[in-house]
Amino acid sequence: MEKKFIIAIDGPAGAGKSTIAKLVAKKLGIIYIDTGAMYRAITYKCLLSGIDLRFLSEDDYESNSLISDIIEIAKNTEINFYGDSIYVDEKNKDDEIRSSEVTKNVSGVSKIKEVREIMVLLQRDITQKSSALLDGRDIGTVVFPNADYKFFLTAEVSERARRRYNQLLEKGIEVDFDSLVDEIRARDEQDMNRKVSPLKKASDAIEVDSTNMSIQEVVDFITKTVLEGSGRNV
Ligand code: C5P
Repeated sequence: MEKKFIIAIDGPAGAGKSTIAKLVAKKLGIIYIDTGAMYRAITYKCLLSGIDLRFLSEDDYESNSLISDIIEIAKNTEINFYGDSIYVDEKNKDDEIRSSEVTKNVSGVSKIKEVREIMVLLQRDITQKSSALLDGRDIGTVVFPNADYKFFLTAEVSERARRRYNQLLEKGIEVDFDSLVDEIRARDEQDMNRKVSPLKKASDAIEVDSTNMSIQEVVDFITKTVLEGSGRNV
């Protein structure tokens, strides 16, 4: 394709964004940035340094002195993507950042304005020179409001939980289905209602409800839209 272009895929937890984004980026031969992995990396490092992150779900979290410790960690963390893998301070942390402890706490850390500012700068920096596909919650609204293509990927919560349940089962991890539904709901709730860059569909994003679609169907739809230039924001 011609000049550099940016594709944004946003949507709630477990809608299949990263699975689909990886495949689309590969088909188009462009880089893929999993921005959720970046917030997970900071959460992982906070937990590793012993910070109890539960206060972030309280209403008055902003007045807690631990906020400045978390911001310090975000400032001092090196995040790189090599292929589809994330390296945190030079070490591969693909598995660690997806632990249930990180998953439970990541929406809290993502509420912090300064943490978001650091992540957004990094996201813009990594993609400065080449075409890229980024997935997350605020890509089409905040990180790249002028992205060439914007998609908002959703699916019913029970379907999202079912997919997550099967993914975990494949890895040999057995979890309670109803707790998965609760966890996804809780994360969406926090992500949609936070003050800074809440999860929402950009007005010019194309909404794709994948509840009754296969991964391949969604990948084909997005790729076709991009290749035909039909969803392009001008
Ligand atoms: O995409 P994933 O589920 O891995 O994202 C983990 C969490 O990171 C989200 O629940 C959200 O709190 C946060 N996030 C965000 N902004 C993004 C990407 C993820 O706040 N652009």
